[in-house]
Amino acid sequence: MCLFCEISKGTIPSRIEYEDDSVVAFHDIAPQAPVHILIIPKKHIESAAALTPDDRDLVFHMFETATNLASKMGIADSGYRLITNIGADAGQSVPHLHLHLIGGKRLNWNN
Ligand code: 5GP
Ligand code: ZN
Repeated sequence: MCLFCEISKGTIPSRIEYEDDSVVAFHDIAPQAPVHILIIPKKHIESAAALTPDDRDLVFHMFETATNLASKMGIADSGYRLITNIGADAGQSVPHLHLHLIGGKRLNWNN
């Protein structure tokens, strides 16, 4: 099973910041900034490129979760970045859709 499916099922432990029926958000194991949380769907989707119209509500919910977590982590006003990598050139290392929520410091473009 894929790493993030294992994390979403709890068989691999992670520092979970938020969870509901369709998404899990947990702290990145190698944070690139003071706040670095990964937001994933519980459903296995390989990347944003594999989304279908059936995932419309799920995609909104991932962004909604990011907004709520930014507030919870105290970075809603200072700003933050949402990133999703697709494929090798982007450096996608886990083939399960995830949004990186990164903030808490001034970010460079190639952070
Ligand atoms: P990608 O490079 O695919 O966009 O992002 C994958 C992210 O997952 C990386 O930032 C990496 O640090 C994080 N990561 C990889 N393995 C684990 C793990 O076992 N636990 C957690 N919490 N994060 C992980
Ligand atoms: Zn998966």
